[in-house]
Amino acid sequence: MDSQATTILKEKFGYDDFRPGQAKAIDRVLNGENTLVLMPTGGGKSLCYQVPALLLPGVTVVVSPLIALMKDQVDALNENGIAATFINSTITYQEMAHRLDMAAAGEVKLLYLAPERLDNPEFVQQLGELNISLLAIDEAHCISQWGHDFRPSYLNLQTIAGQLPSHPAVIALTATATSRVADDICARLAIPDAGVVSTGFARSNLSFQVVRDQDKDTYLLEYLKLNPDHSGIIYCSTRKEVERLANLLAKHHYTVAHYHGGMSDAERAANQEDFLFDRKPIMVATNAFGMGIDKSNVRFVIHAQAPGDLESYYQEAGRAGRDGLDSDAILLFAPKDLQIQRFFIDQSDGDDDYRQKQYSKLETMRQYGNTGECLQQFILRYFGEASQPCGRCSNCRDTREYVDVTESAQKVLSCVVRMRSRFGKGVVASVLAGANNERIRQSHLADLPTYGLLSSWRQKDITGFIDFLTAAGYLQPAAGQYPTLHVTATGAAVLRGEASVRRKQAAKARQSLPVDD
Ligand code: ADP
Ligand code: ZN
Repeated sequence: MDSQATTILKEKFGYDDFRPGQAKAIDRVLNGENTLVLMPTGGGKSLCYQVPALLLPGVTVVVSPLIALMKDQVDALNENGIAATFINSTITYQEMAHRLDMAAAGEVKLLYLAPERLDNPEFVQQLGELNISLLAIDEAHCISQWGHDFRPSYLNLQTIAGQLPSHPAVIALTATATSRVADDICARLAIPDAGVVSTGFARSNLSFQVVRDQDKDTYLLEYLKLNPDHSGIIYCSTRKEVERLANLLAKHHYTVAHYHGGMSDAERAANQEDFLFDRKPIMVATNAFGMGIDKSNVRFVIHAQAPGDLESYYQEAGRAGRDGLDSDAILLFAPKDLQIQRFFIDQSDGDDDYRQKQYSKLETMRQYGNTGECLQQFILRYFGEASQPCGRCSNCRDTREYVDVTESAQKVLSCVVRMRSRFGKGVVASVLAGANNERIRQSHLADLPTYGLLSSWRQKDITGFIDFLTAAGYLQPAAGQYPTLHVTATGAAVLRGEASVRRKQAAKARQSLPVDD
């Protein structure tokens, strides 16, 4: 390791050792090599460009969408005696010109930029006149249309990075990227395979939990009672639900702040501050809240409603435990909340391609809510990372016993086959239940040999079982607006009797819930 870098780490930042991945990333950057840093939230990504910024001759340009955070970041650097400044929409044109002049005169080491600035060719031209040694791209997943937070302005970086006259090294950083997104980032920013520095995305201090089939309000109130004085965020999908929950908690004498896009800027800023400074330790919010919130002692993030994709979920949940202490990431899962997300996708102005992508991401979210697998492992696998069961999540700690449900699974799977994969789970469930409704009559589904095969089950349990089989990969819904079910290759093996299906079930439920004997 560059001994100068160690000196800077100590003298400017007050730390003795590098965290995993930092030294390697810094080494590469100091050698002028393009690098992608994949690290979880709180992993220490900033130092990967801040340390080189102080060692390289010119200025380091940092592109970040976190406008709300820029001033704080720059203030913090200035307090450490590091010359840094930012340019975004919150400053005047004169001020911008002044700050650019300072950068041109070599008076700042770090210049933070909002990506929107790059939409302006004149500005890009001015940027080209600076002696830029390093181009740091924070939240780099924003450059990929495969990511969950694509920003068109980020695409400018593809050309700019290659055309800056000073030929700076590029360092891209993110805490949420599937392998597809990571590949995309590398392709667009000319980062070689060997340039990927990854510590993985695992968060060893987070306990992921999925709570199903419980009254959410009761659960929340109970949780807060058991965890008094803890600071946390409760996410909802709609403004209305934010208002409702915030009122409910206030009625129970909790000090809550709330935040959503329908409030005035002043109100939002005030509530955000109340939360950040622990005057109001609980925040109830839509996903409008949190981008760039750097509150270290968040002990829980509870999603009262599921978001539309797993990347957003992981990013939002990841705001818990930035200080490294044990924290909870809880999803209160109800299938009807996914319909809200489905509605958002239906209403979005993206093209057909975009919608298909979103529907299939929503499907992954559903599977997360239904999986019996380790939750952290499920998430990491989605990001293309192999891992061991975490031992902390609600599935790992589920002490119920496995029950063999192969026979029931075969009934469901063969029903799907008989229905020629032309129906969604609701119709499949009503056929298995032996229901007599319009849809069944219309399509003559009562004639199927599988009709009524699970008539001793409640329809709700059949739907739940289909969800389980889907999450476990035996069934797969078609991507797109009409998720008709079909049997996968693993499902086919179960049908042929070549594989068995096990499910965790409580001993009590075992008597009432129909399982195979
Ligand atoms: P990220 O951007 O990856 O979420 P940050 O760069 O904000 O994470 O770093 C998270 C926290 O860890 C910060 O408080 C930072 O000061 C601290 N940190 C980073 N690197 C080190 C290190 N080498 N030693 C000790 N603390 C560190
Ligand atoms: Zn686990």
